Amino acid sequence: MTQSPEAQRGGVAAQMLVGLVFVAALFAALYWDQHLRNTALETDESPVAETDDAPLAGDNEPPAEAEEELPVDEEAPPADLVDETGAVFSYLPVGDLLPESGPGFVDDTVYRDDIAFPTADRAYLNSQVYRYGGFYGSVNGMEGGQCNAANFAYPWQDTFCEKRSREQALCPGGGHEGVDIRPASCAKETHTAIAVEDARVVDVRRHWVTLQTADGTLYNYLHLDMGNLDVSFGDSVAKGDPIGVISNDFYKSDGTSVATTIHLHFEMYENYVATDGEEPLFTKVNPYLTLVAAYDRKLRGE
Ligand SMILES: [Zn+2]
Repeated sequence: MTQSPEAQRGGVAAQMLVGLVFVAALFAALYWDQHLRNTALETDESPVAETDDAPLAGDNEPPAEAEEELPVDEEAPPADLVDETGAVFSYLPVGDLLPESGPGFVDDTVYRDDIAFPTADRAYLNSQVYRYGGFYGSVNGMEGGQCNAANFAYPWQDTFCEKRSREQALCPGGGHEGVDIRPASCAKETHTAIAVEDARVVDVRRHWVTLQTADGTLYNYLHLDMGNLDVSFGDSVAKGDPIGVISNDFYKSDGTSVATTIHLHFEMYENYVATDGEEPLFTKVNPYLTLVAAYDRKLRGE
């Protein structure tokens, strides 16, 4: 028996319908299965995701690892260093001098990481010539006396290779081969200069006191009250021992006294032996960042 063409078409249509239903059911099953999987994944992941985004928020106890990471994420900046008046210590970069006051001399080296700062009290590194009370204060609009409060404030400023008339090796055209340290106040002969290291007093002349350490390093302290020093030529001093009081003594080579501003001019010489067996050579270095590091330790009480 043969089916009519209609019956054959009807049979084919029925088979296709069954096939479609089967395929639809298969898709539905797959979809549902995937939906369940997705739901399960979301459920598993959500606490972790929330913890990462908001470790402090909510009632969920964050996992231990998130708790450990927390201090890194929210690390507090280092505490400000303050002096005994509560003023926050700051300093300008090495070689960054006042406008029109000289080229400066950039030297990033901290030559010693264990010296004492050379004054017993707080101090201010800044220009004696281009600020209030200095001969060229007007260059930057700083006319006035040396006791102007602005001279006794942070930030510190480097004065190495500040302009001077005399030619010097490190400062072409003439410059200042040391840094100037203003004492805590402009009171004369009140603030003590101290030995930065264990040393011997190897020179006392005019307005100079020179210390030398066992490794040959030289330190010059200028403008102390030379008539009232705590040390004499040949003395041994320990780190922190008083050298004298900061004043404004300045004697020309012919012995004439010319007062300068009240400050400590501080110099540092590194020594080295260029050729084995030869005498050591001495070279001045910019002690600015060495002094910044020493002051930082001083304020930390180290
Ligand atoms: Zn000086």
